Amino acid sequence: MRVLVVEDDGVLRGQLVSTLEAAGYAVDSADNGIDAQHLGTTGSYDAVLLDLGLPRLDGLSVLRNWRAVGRTMPVLILTARDSWHEKVAGIDAGADDYLAKPFHVEELLARLRALIRRAGGHASAELVCGPLCLDTRNGRASVAGQVLALTSHEYRVLAYLMHHQGEVVSRSDLVEHIYAQDFDRDSNTIEVFIARLRKKLPPGLIETIRGLGYRLGAPR
Ligand code: CA
Repeated sequence: MRVLVVEDDGVLRGQLVSTLEAAGYAVDSADNGIDAQHLGTTGSYDAVLLDLGLPRLDGLSVLRNWRAVGRTMPVLILTARDSWHEKVAGIDAGADDYLAKPFHVEELLARLRALIRRAGGHASAELVCGPLCLDTRNGRASVAGQVLALTSHEYRVLAYLMHHQGEVVSRSDLVEHIYAQDFDRDSNTIEVFIARLRKKLPPGLIETIRGLGYRLGAPR
C-alpha cells in the first residue's frame, strides 16, 4: 500500500513519513500544493494525508483539482483544531475523513487503515482468504493461526493482493503500489516476491493469470 503525505511543517512531515514507513507503507511526500497536485495526479496512491494550509496552492484547491480530473483515492485531511468550517469545506471538496491537529499517531493509523479497507470494499480490519488472514491493525499475516515471517516488500505485495482479492492484479499495479516514487523500481522483482510468498503460503492461493498478472483467492 502506497501513501502520499502532504504537509509543509518539516518536523511533522518527517514524523508522519517515518511512522507510516514503520507501519509498512510505501510513502511519498510533498511540502507544497503544486508538488502535491502533481504527485496525486500522476501517482497511484492507496490513500493521501493532506494538510490544508500549504504554500503555493492550498490543500482544498489541490483536493478539488484531483477530484475534477477523476482521482478517486481516499483523502484524509489534517485540519486545525476546532475549525469545523475547515472540516465541512474539506468534505465538500471531496475528502473522505478528517483529523484535527494535534492528533495521536494511533488514531491517524486507524483512520488510514479504515479508509484503505473501505476503498477496497472491506468492512473488517481482518482480511481473510481461505486459511490466510491479514490483520491490518498490526500488519500480521497468518495461515491457520501461524504467523508468517515476511519482509516489508513481501508484506506490501500480500497486503495489496489481499485488499484486491478475486481481482487480477498486474505486475505494474504491484510496482505502483509497493514502491515509493524515488525507489529504484524493477518489475522483475515482483516475480521474486511472488515466488517467495508462494513458498510461505498454502498452494494455490496466488494464481498466475498468463499475460495479465496475479489473482489471490481461496483455491477451489
Ligand atoms: Ca500547514
